[in-house]
Amino acid sequence: MRNRFLGVLAVLGAAGAIAATSDGAALLAARPLLVPVQGIAPQALADTYTQARGGRQHEAMDIMAARGTPVVAVDDGKLVKLFRSVPGGLTIYQFDPSGQLAYYYAHLDHYADGLKEGTMLKRGQVIGYVGSTGNAAPDGPHLHFAVFRLGPEKLWWKGEPVNPYAALRQAAPQAAR
Ligand SMILES: [Zn+2]
Repeated sequence: MRNRFLGVLAVLGAAGAIAATSDGAALLAARPLLVPVQGIAPQALADTYTQARGGRQHEAMDIMAARGTPVVAVDDGKLVKLFRSVPGGLTIYQFDPSGQLAYYYAHLDHYADGLKEGTMLKRGQVIGYVGSTGNAAPDGPHLHFAVFRLGPEKLWWKGEPVNPYAALRQAAPQAAR
């Protein structure tokens, strides 16, 4: 699987210009991800990427869990932004180690203690807790998790969305501790 995948990357690289979306999916598939919510098995995940949300495509995954369930970093990489937005509530933006992908975690109830922008996160590190801040229904706490392929400027708020479902179905579960 891994070898076949590297072969695909080599072909894509040789082709030069690549569609941003497939490129992002290939980059993501090569990352050894964890499910970002503790105690959720990969097989329990639902693909909510193409669902309609307020007139546009969702372009993210919703992972339902009890309020206060720990949210963990899916990968190593830099925490680039802690941000409170009207739709997302309390959010975290993390880059992958190569700075080509961004991971976005939203509707957090609160952040993990001592979390700071600019620090390097370790895969599996608790970064926050499931909640319903922003536009999530108060009685439906969940993690809204999105991935996007960063452009050359590497702006934390800007990129091509990538569906994380296939990669997370291959992910290691993050057991409750
Ligand atoms: Zn969502």
